[in-house]
Amino acid sequence: MPLRALLFDVGETLWHAPAPPPPQEFRRLAAERAGPVLAALGVDAIDTDRITRVAWDAIDPAMRKARHGDLKEPDYVAAVQDALRTIDVELPRNGVEVLLETIYVSGAEAGKIAYPGAREVLDTLKARGFLLATATNRAFGGRRFRCDLAECGLDIGWDAHAVSIEVGYLKPHPAVFEHALRELAVAPEQALMVGNSLKEDVAGAQPLGIATAWRRSRPDAEGVTPDYTFDELHELLDIPGLEAAGD
Ligand SMILES: [Mg+2]
Repeated sequence: MPLRALLFDVGETLWHAPAPPPPQEFRRLAAERAGPVLAALGVDAIDTDRITRVAWDAIDPAMRKARHGDLKEPDYVAAVQDALRTIDVELPRNGVEVLLETIYVSGAEAGKIAYPGAREVLDTLKARGFLLATATNRAFGGRRFRCDLAECGLDIGWDAHAVSIEVGYLKPHPAVFEHALRELAVAPEQALMVGNSLKEDVAGAQPLGIATAWRRSRPDAEGVTPDYTFDELHELLDIPGLEAAGD
């Protein structure tokens, strides 16, 4: 069946952070922004630095547990709420949501830049008639993710987004890929998944019948063989079947 669509992983596939700000700068920015938010929530925040750190540090273990467990996106808000209780800070769910949104430093501010040629390759694929979607594991989705893409020059007019936190599951769970296919209204055999993770991108998409192109990086799985391997994004344009979108 001719290819009609491409699904793109984002981190280390379309963008990366070759020179991110040091962790203390992330923490400083986060604490600075959290101050007014915590005050508005009625928290007597003497140590905003500590509160933001506890909140932030609750996210990673929750994500790691999910990645090694049932691949269900965790309830980050509840995880942060629980962590804050350990330092006697009690916030309602919507308060935690606002706090997390505030302390999440992302996009260009986090040092993210698109890989060379990313925009041109995506534009060319679009011009060739392909439907394009993201398929990405992210703890933050919504407007923020779309803005981060725009900041990196990757606001190409995506046909769909499959973001784990919005779908409810993390790659390699099939739900993420199925969401993208459904949104694009294409069959698995009409799609090519492009990503840098053998475990999440390649091994996730293959069982559904989706072809895969792996951006060569440190292998994170054994016994997984992608259909295509590339080093630079422009090589995608030479993959057989990507000359023009099929009907
Ligand atoms: Mg990636």
